[in-house]
Amino acid sequence: MNAVMIVREEEIQRTPLRGVQETLLAWPARVSLLILGDKDAPDEIDLSPGFERVMWIKGGQASEDMPNLAASLHQYVAGFDLILLLEERSLRPLAARIAAHLHCTPVTDVTAITAPLQCLRSICSGQAEQRVKASGKQVWTLRRQAFEQAVCPVPQVTYAVEKCCWKIILPQPIAGTSQPITLTRPPLTQAKIVVGGGRGVGARQWNILEAIADKLDAGLGVTRALVDAGYFTEQAQVGQTGKQIAPQIYLACGISGAIQHVAGITNSKVIVAINHDPEAPIIKRYADYYLLSDVADVLPRLLAQL
Ligand SMILES: Cc1cc2nc3c(=O)[nH]c(=O)nc-3n(C[C@H](O)[C@H](O)[C@H](O)COP(=O)(O)OP(=O)(O)OC[C@H]3O[C@@H](n4cnc5c(N)ncnc54)[C@H](O)[C@@H]3O)c2cc1C
Repeated sequence: MNAVMIVREEEIQRTPLRGVQETLLAWPARVSLLILGDKDAPDEIDLSPGFERVMWIKGGQASEDMPNLAASLHQYVAGFDLILLLEERSLRPLAARIAAHLHCTPVTDVTAITAPLQCLRSICSGQAEQRVKASGKQVWTLRRQAFEQAVCPVPQVTYAVEKCCWKIILPQPIAGTSQPITLTRPPLTQAKIVVGGGRGVGARQWNILEAIADKLDAGLGVTRALVDAGYFTEQAQVGQTGKQIAPQIYLACGISGAIQHVAGITNSKVIVAINHDPEAPIIKRYADYYLLSDVADVLPRLLAQL
């Protein structure tokens, strides 16, 4: 088993990192470290013993340029069986993107590593635990509190640092245009109309939803489900742990109406929901108007009318 841990620079002397390393070394696994540094890579670094390789990429501000960082990291971690990230909201989308490059599904909220490629993960807001038996290449995000049990302090060993560099993916030029295209959308908290998308909006309808938002000069907000899945940054999240909005009209598409999402939309003047489930809370409790229908059917027709 060949594992690599991706951690921020500030984590390298903290207990959770050592906790994960101890678990992996007990299997035994070969463990390497890839550090997301705030500054340029040093030539050498002092760390706990047992790492096979220590790599460094200047990428401390992971959320600044996530697609390029994920593409860069992917080339360095592709040779490993297991890629681990200590959990942190801005690193979740990174895990999702790396997993997408590797054609695997990320496993999040891991609370214990029980055997090679077997783990426990927290589900249902911590009310239940799921036992996962994985195969193939894996990307896992780990709950840091679960790995605080490491024995510290440990002797330090000096490692030579392998310097990794960014692979910059330049946007493809668009035929026939010489000016870059910039989409301007009103900020969510100031928009008069907000178009909201949830898990019910499939990948094929996203460009339609964006086009509808642009036609209406509306803000575009999403549920946490889509942020956690790595499709959007938390800048777009509406709700208890996201933005509180107060538009004249909130158009909720494929959104169930979980209480945490509703916490961010209660100041909307009129809530319009599109959902195919009559039992969805957004339909039963919160919407002023609703359409019981499939968003894949409704959204193209709505766009055509605008
Ligand atoms: C501590 C905490 C904080 C949280 N904070 C937030 C927050 O700030 N914001 C937030 O949004 N969430 C938050 N959540 C998550 C929240 O509990 C829900 O999980 C999330 O809002 C659900 O997102 P969703 O509606 O997109 O997905 P789901 O609940 O999966 O709902 C999808 C909906 O789409 C409908 N649908 C599916 N396919 C179609 C289709 N083809 N056509 C029409 N309808 C369709 C389904 O009927 C369903 O109602 C938080 C959770 C916790 C525990």
